[in-house]
Amino acid sequence: MRVNENILISSLTTMRLGGPARYVLEVEKPEDVADAYGFARQFNYPTFVLGFGANTIGHDEGFKGAIIINRMRGIFEEKLENSVRLKVMGGEPWDAVVEYACNRNLTGIEALSKIPGLAGAAPVQNIGAYGQEIADTLVEIDVFDSVSDTFKTLKKEDLNFSYRKSILNTTEKNRYFVISITLELKEGSMAPPFYNSIEKYITENNLTDFSPKGIRAIVSKIRAEKLPDPKEKASAGSFFKNIYLSDEEAERAESKGYPVYRGKDGNKINSGWFIEQAGFAGKVLYGIRVNEKAALVLINESAKSYNDLSKARAEIVGKVYDKFGYWLEQEPVEII
Ligand SMILES: Cc1cc2nc3c(=O)[nH]c(=O)nc-3n(C[C@H](O)[C@H](O)[C@H](O)COP(=O)(O)OP(=O)(O)OC[C@H]3O[C@@H](n4cnc5c(N)ncnc54)[C@H](O)[C@@H]3O)c2cc1C
Repeated sequence: MRVNENILISSLTTMRLGGPARYVLEVEKPEDVADAYGFARQFNYPTFVLGFGANTIGHDEGFKGAIIINRMRGIFEEKLENSVRLKVMGGEPWDAVVEYACNRNLTGIEALSKIPGLAGAAPVQNIGAYGQEIADTLVEIDVFDSVSDTFKTLKKEDLNFSYRKSILNTTEKNRYFVISITLELKEGSMAPPFYNSIEKYITENNLTDFSPKGIRAIVSKIRAEKLPDPKEKASAGSFFKNIYLSDEEAERAESKGYPVYRGKDGNKINSGWFIEQAGFAGKVLYGIRVNEKAALVLINESAKSYNDLSKARAEIVGKVYDKFGYWLEQEPVEII
C-alpha cells in the first residue's frame, strides 16, 4: 500500500475542486485493502473510496480522513459455452475494458465507450449511455466489506441496480470496496434498432458496420462532438440526472409540450432540455460554464471554490423548478 499525505482533492478529481485530503492510500493487492481500512481506523478517520474522480466533487475544506484508491489492474478472460466472462480488476481504466471487449468482438458494453473512470466505480452508479448499462452484463463483484472486515462476492441480484443506482451508492453507501468486477459478454453485434442518437448518426453517415468496434467508433464520435474531454476541460460529466416518469406523469409532461423519450428503460426527459429552455446553455455562472451542446454537463472554467459551484447549481436548479416544476437531482457524489 502506498501512503500519501495532504494531497489536494482537486488534483484527484476531474471537476478540479477541493482542498487537501489528510491521507490518500493506494492499494495494489487485495490484502492491502484490509490494511488501508485498519490504517484509517487507528486515527479514527473516516474513509472515502475514490476511482478516477470523474463523478466526485471535493469541498474547499478538504477531507480529514483517508481516501482509498484501487490501483489493481488486469483483465482475465474465461470462455464459457456461449459467452465470455471478463474478470476486471477495479483499478483498470473503464475504457480500456471496453476497448479490449470490442477488439475481441464481444458485444454488451460497446455503447459505454469513452466513459471516464475506473472499472471499480462502474457498478456504483450503474454507468449507462446510449441504451446500455453495466447492469445488463455484470455478473458479480468481489468486494471488501468494511463493516465485517471480510472479502465477499456480491451477485448482480444483490446490487439492486436501477437508473444511476445500486446498493453501493444508496443503502450500503461507503460500505464496500470494489476489488474486481465480472462481466459476461457474447461474441457478435448489437441488434438494431439502436438508441436514437446512434440511429441518427448511422443514417446521416450511411454506416453499415454495427460490430462492437463499429459501434464504439460511432459512440466515440458522438461523445467527442458534445462532451468535454476531462483532460482538457474540468467537468464531472452530467451534473444532473435525467428525469424518469411514470406513464401518467409522462402523459402530463407531454401535454405541456415537454419532450418525453419512451425507451426500454422507461419514460424520461433529458434534464438538459429544461436547462436549455431556462436559457442557461453556454452561459457562465460563477466560473461554471453550462455546456452548450449537452446542457446537463457543467464545466469548471474558472470557479475558485466549491462555493462557486454551489451558487451556480442553486441558480440552475431554482430556475428550472420555477419554470417547469421539476427538481433536478445532482449526479456526482461529494467527499464530505
Ligand atoms: C466527461 C464525462 C462524461 C461522463 N459520461 C458518463 C456517461 O455517459 N454515463 C455515466 O454513467 N457516467 C458518466 N460520467 C460519470 C463517470 O464517468 C462515471 O460515474 C464513472 O463510473 C466514474 O468513475 P470514477 O473511477 O471516476 O469514479 P469516482 O468519481 O472516483 O467515484 C464515483 C463513486 O464510486 C465510488 N467508487 C469508486 N471506486 C470504487 C471502488 N473501487 N469501490 C467502491 N466504490 C468506489 C466512489 O466512492 C464514488 O461514490 C461521465 C463523467 C465525465 C467527466
